[in-house]
Amino acid sequence: MEKGNISVQTENIFPIIKKFLYSEQEIFMRELVSNAVDATNKLKVLSNKGEFKGELGELTIDVVLKKEEKQIIIRDRGIGMTAEEVKKYLNQLAFSSASEFLEKYKEDSSIIGHFGLGFYSAFMVAEKVDVITKSWKEGESAVKWSCKGDPSFTLEEVEKDDRGTDIILHINEDGEEYLEKAELEKLLNKYCGFLPIPVRFGKKEEHETVGEGDDQKTETKEVDNIINNPNPLWKKIPTDLTDEDYKNFYRELYPFAQPPLFWIHLNIDYPFNLNGVLYFPRLENAMVEPEKNRIKLYSNQVYVTDDVSNILPPFLLHLHGVIDSPDIPLNVSRSYLQADQNVRKITGYITRKVADKLKELFNTDRKDYESKWDQFGIFVKYGMITEEKFYDKALKFALLKTTDGEYQTIEEHKEAVKDEQTDKNDTLNLLYTSNEKMQSSFIKSATEKGYKVIVMDQVIDNHFIQQLETKNTDFRFKRVDAETIDQLIDKDVKLDSVLSEDEENKLKLLFEDQVKTDSNFQLEFKALTPHDKPVQIVRPEFLRRMQEMQAMQGMNTGFGDMSNVVVNTNHPIFSEKLLRMRSPEKKEQMVKTLYDLARLDQGMLNGEDLSNFIHRNLELLQ
Ligand code: ADP
Repeated sequence: MEKGNISVQTENIFPIIKKFLYSEQEIFMRELVSNAVDATNKLKVLSNKGEFKGELGELTIDVVLKKEEKQIIIRDRGIGMTAEEVKKYLNQLAFSSASEFLEKYKEDSSIIGHFGLGFYSAFMVAEKVDVITKSWKEGESAVKWSCKGDPSFTLEEVEKDDRGTDIILHINEDGEEYLEKAELEKLLNKYCGFLPIPVRFGKKEEHETVGEGDDQKTETKEVDNIINNPNPLWKKIPTDLTDEDYKNFYRELYPFAQPPLFWIHLNIDYPFNLNGVLYFPRLENAMVEPEKNRIKLYSNQVYVTDDVSNILPPFLLHLHGVIDSPDIPLNVSRSYLQADQNVRKITGYITRKVADKLKELFNTDRKDYESKWDQFGIFVKYGMITEEKFYDKALKFALLKTTDGEYQTIEEHKEAVKDEQTDKNDTLNLLYTSNEKMQSSFIKSATEKGYKVIVMDQVIDNHFIQQLETKNTDFRFKRVDAETIDQLIDKDVKLDSVLSEDEENKLKLLFEDQVKTDSNFQLEFKALTPHDKPVQIVRPEFLRRMQEMQAMQGMNTGFGDMSNVVVNTNHPIFSEKLLRMRSPEKKEQMVKTLYDLARLDQGMLNGEDLSNFIHRNLELLQ
């Protein structure tokens, strides 16, 4: 038996491994199983090239749990190692790569991935590791390498029938949880779920119903428990796949999610290698629970992480699916990753692909696209706000939904409303509502006048409006309740007041008495058409936006809800009724009611004012 020390370095690496990587200790499984996969793939290559002439046979990798003995064994039938190779790869190479990794890790604790730690990660959970291996090369005898987590090792010749490698982990206290079958299986599913070589974890029971009618019974049989799907959909050629395939794969990834809206198959070899499938989920799942069902990053089918925030722009983080690229550097810090040229290219590519796909869907089946817009439009808006390049592309397929159920692109909408909604200053006004129910009477007046009203009722819409206005100087947005209807699109039509100056002054006095208590309300007297409401409350666009912005930043404006109370001096109720009344009480009551109705219309009547209003009206009915 040969004994030796792993490295000339005196520093003991193992305590460091444990200390630094404690939280990530579960990656040992990924490292060891991917080594087994590599060894198997190498043998396949040798066989293809004719260098290995024997039978490949079954190449399934086994993970064996021996709970009593406190062992986990990872077994492959790959190329194996000769005694010389064990010394070279495990004593020198693996050790130096682990040291190098830890050097980097010490500097930056936000390293993603953790590839490169490799074989030595086994010592995070094992007090002793045995490697029993036999090379594919003829005439080589099997060897057993043992190491107890200190720099000394032993190496001896042993008997082993089959080529390949057994890694035997003698689990320590830190790793005891992995001796639970369910825990270990969870780990295998997470890290090895899509490895390219089948991985078997013991046996499982499968139930099958056989027979007909009364003879029907359930048969139970034992089958191999293969934990991975070695041919995941993202590696396949898109033209070979059906919609059903994509939906099934989505279910495989996220068993509890609702079916996706549509998907994008990413597939590129040059200038970098990247495969993947991104799904557009139904809005309610994605935006409400962005932490759930996140995009998973793989490297050659080995699971790396579900935090892809350094690789994708924020708006795409709400998508679901898989990205697999060996060209995303994993063993580096976050800040480095964001600056990395390759990663920048990848980010750009994915963003472009998403835009192309949306454009294609828009062009090929607009009806279907429109029917889903309410579900995914928010992604597009978010993208337009945050990504310059996406904005430019999205102009062609971003939709505005109107209150009468039409979906129009921004250009289409402008074209449709330009005749009616251009004002005296030649500015095109796009009208919108932030709440169809609350603003229904304003919407009604606007549509009756031949205007179109866009529905902007999502949280993101304030920003979206701002973004569109910043990018376009030829139109601006105005909420339907920003002005009285004749002023909404100011066409410079001035009406004369039917009231005399004296009458108007009387009216003013009456209203000032009632409205003055609300200092946020500006009182305005305007000659509108007799069909306009006698009193209405409007919320000037500029003021309202300023307030909303400040409220969003948590600032107290001190203004409350600034609004204008507009009294239509041309409404017959004033000339024919109010001003002719004798009883001051009745006058007061009428003004109160008119004012309350206007507040009711804006959803501003509440509390005591609302109770009084109801009371007054009940009394009138008696
Ligand atoms: P890496 O896999 O990144 O090279 P590791 O520390 O995981 O680093 O492994 C070091 C080397 O040991 C590998 O490159 C490989 O040559 C050898 N090795 C590890 N596991 C196996 C295995 N199961 N079969 C054959 N060779 C292996």
